[in-house]
Amino acid sequence: MQWPTNRNLKNEAATLALGEGLGRVLRAGDVVLLQGPLGAGKTTLARGLISSLTDETEIVSPTFTLVQTYAADAFDIWHFDLYRLEDVDAVWELGIEEALETGVSLIEWPERLGRYAPEEALTLSLDIQGGARIATLTGSADWTERLHEL
Ligand code: ADP
Ligand code: MG
Repeated sequence: MQWPTNRNLKNEAATLALGEGLGRVLRAGDVVLLQGPLGAGKTTLARGLISSLTDETEIVSPTFTLVQTYAADAFDIWHFDLYRLEDVDAVWELGIEEALETGVSLIEWPERLGRYAPEEALTLSLDIQGGARIATLTGSADWTERLHEL
């Protein structure tokens, strides 16, 4: 697989399914940076991922709380939405260090991470294309192997 790789997501179900597929290959310490404008489907993708790995039925956007955590079998999932982050150091108070080290981190608006940006991550960028979405994935060589079934 060559980077970047694109996926056409023709409806919400396709975005949820990509999240579910991604959930199957994640392990503790992984970071997924969810990029794209408001309404692109970042939270939808996170919802697909989280609901496939936990028995959580209410997965809400961390718009105001900035982070929500969920317990999967093998790790905790930390779902961040940094859109409303005012001071980069507040991200430390949210638990970013523990998230990056021991959990799986799904981060909306990762541009706001500043000096807390992880060295290694899978970037999943969503673009609005009419009524549909295009996902563009970019990552290190290691991710090529892990994503080949996606
Ligand atoms: P974001 O978190 O990026 O702001 P959301 O996940 O809240 O965006 O999604 C915004 C809207 O986009 C939702 O109404 C969702 O149903 C819709 N949506 C998600 N994926 C798709 C898709 N592939 N095609 C069309 N609509 C989608
Ligand atoms: Mg969102």
